[in-house]
Amino acid sequence: MQTVTKEIKDVFFVVKEIVYPRRCPVCDGILNTFELKDRRIKRGRLIHDDCIKKIKYVKAPTCIKCGKGLKGEDADKEFCDDCAKMKHSYDRGFSLFQYRSVSGSIYRFKYMGRQEYADFYARATKKVLGKKLSALDIDLIVPVPMYRRKAAERGYNQAEVYARKVSEMLDIPMCADLVQRSRNTLPMKNLDVRGRRNNLKKAFNIQRNDVKFKCILIIDDIYTTGSTIDEIARLLRLAGAKKVYFLTLAIGQTT
Ligand SMILES: [Zn+2]
Ligand SMILES: [Zn+2]
Repeated sequence: MQTVTKEIKDVFFVVKEIVYPRRCPVCDGILNTFELKDRRIKRGRLIHDDCIKKIKYVKAPTCIKCGKGLKGEDADKEFCDDCAKMKHSYDRGFSLFQYRSVSGSIYRFKYMGRQEYADFYARATKKVLGKKLSALDIDLIVPVPMYRRKAAERGYNQAEVYARKVSEMLDIPMCADLVQRSRNTLPMKNLDVRGRRNNLKKAFNIQRNDVKFKCILIIDDIYTTGSTIDEIARLLRLAGAKKVYFLTLAIGQTT
């Protein structure tokens, strides 16, 4: 009976892959996600072998606060220039990729419906950062929320899609509605640090004021100045969280 169920699942999988073939997170080309081996369907490929080499992971040494890679003259510093100047509300951050090597991938993940990339992102997260993240004793994962109407227009919140896969991979619960975005904010791209802070005033609210989770991991796609994560971390602390970390898919590198 078990084999039959497995075979039915395999058939569904193959049909789905033919109708909606999975695409490579680097080149966006179609992947052969299955092959027949010993009359069994073998699955698993999430990225082309050649494409995986094009991705750059964040490497040590890193800033002990935001986790950004430190290069050249900065290599023996504790903090990156940004964190040396500014206090953050979070405890520490971790990022997986160097932004420049995955900017196209994240763009498609965010705006072009390529939610399937999250499988590769989450698997890479576990491989590269799994031990570090598990050592933090995280109680709860919280994705950076998107304004509800915007999420409805886009069909999904990419931070939540990634967070859900990480939650499954690391076996840590996720709550996507503990923090909500109460109003639509301007795009941060063209704002300076003060502008970003003002833009975020009263942008979020927390559904409960007795957050019983002591250690929270905020998840987003990209870390730039950290102002969004700082604001959420500040609110989570006010509500009772003791430790607040973040994980993002990508972060810029100081050159
Ligand atoms: Zn590829
Ligand atoms: Zn830093």
